[in-house]
Amino acid sequence: MNSEKIPQCNPLASYARLKLEIDGAISAVLSRGVYILGEEAAKFEEEFAAYHGGGHAVGVANGTDALELSLRALGISPGSHVFTVSHTAVATVAAIEKAGAVPVLVDIDPASFTMCPCSLEAAVASHAHIGGAVIVVHLYGQPAPYLQEIMEIAARHGLRVMEDCSQAHGAEWRGTKVGTFGDVAAFSLYPTKNLGALGDGGICLTNDESLAGKIRGLREYGWKQRYVSDFAGGNSRLDELQAAILRIKLRHLDRENDSRRKLAGIYSTGIQSPFIQKPHENPDGRHVYHQFVVRSQKRDLLREYLANDQIGTLIHYPVPIHQQPAYKGRVAVSPAGMKATEEAALEILSLPMYPEMPESFAERVVAALNAWKECSL
Ligand SMILES: *Cc1c(COP(=O)(O)O)cnc(C)c1O
Repeated sequence: MNSEKIPQCNPLASYARLKLEIDGAISAVLSRGVYILGEEAAKFEEEFAAYHGGGHAVGVANGTDALELSLRALGISPGSHVFTVSHTAVATVAAIEKAGAVPVLVDIDPASFTMCPCSLEAAVASHAHIGGAVIVVHLYGQPAPYLQEIMEIAARHGLRVMEDCSQAHGAEWRGTKVGTFGDVAAFSLYPTKNLGALGDGGICLTNDESLAGKIRGLREYGWKQRYVSDFAGGNSRLDELQAAILRIKLRHLDRENDSRRKLAGIYSTGIQSPFIQKPHENPDGRHVYHQFVVRSQKRDLLREYLANDQIGTLIHYPVPIHQQPAYKGRVAVSPAGMKATEEAALEILSLPMYPEMPESFAERVVAALNAWKECSL
């Protein structure tokens, strides 16, 4: 077959569409002569907070740092437990350990691929947790439907709540944007995310002014006054070029999320195969489809079949964190087991999804999926 290749994601397409605006902004920053934490970063923080209906935003170097600095700012003391899912980017767990805390991994609800409150409850019951936290991940762009239940469990046990919104910029739960429910939220601004820079970037969002102040200090050596450290911090800053690019991207975020939803609609209506399970969209949420993830019991064969048809796919994520070499046997898991997580890892497949993807590509993917006969392979 010699049909055009369909990439799984395509950050270049987003740049190409906004090239004039972005090139202009880059050139303005270059000429201004301030390259770190200047007016672009300050304005991006203001605009990002305003997009979420208020609060305080603090730009940092990447999403992993946004998680780590948020944990540190919450005062999560070394050795205390932080509960999160095993079905997430490894960054979520890496950040917990970087902050000196101890991760405890819990299972997912298979319908939404997000944290299962029962599994959390079991994990919390079996671990000492004074001064700990829970990190809820809005995976694939879907607001975690049990966030309210999880916040109640956290409140009962004196745990703080963080949201990892790295895949869910602009997603809403009952009309309210994710990132505004917990004590603090962390967002990655990596190029392929729904809101992506052209390099690394991250941002924290909170309604708590003093928490925001603490994160602001932590990202730059604990300075209140330049060159004088009030407390020990490090270096995790958002640069002016990325901030200027992100200000432009933020203005296009809702439109780009609408495009993702439209493509997801083509997939959802079009895919009619008994061998492929489509994602479940909770009617109370506005899913922003960072990924459109299907399931198949013959996932690896399906992936190969699509690749032969010039259709790119990815697996987010192929190995649960508690089974990865760096964490296996060392990191604690919920006593309720990790069945849903382990099953998902074997069956999930992320279809091509990026805002500029032509609808004809989505239709080609649908046709290929519907023509697939798993038993004939
Ligand atoms: C991308 C991502 C991160 C890490 O962000 P970086 O900017 O790459 O450090 C953290 N959590 C989740 C869920 C992510 O998808």
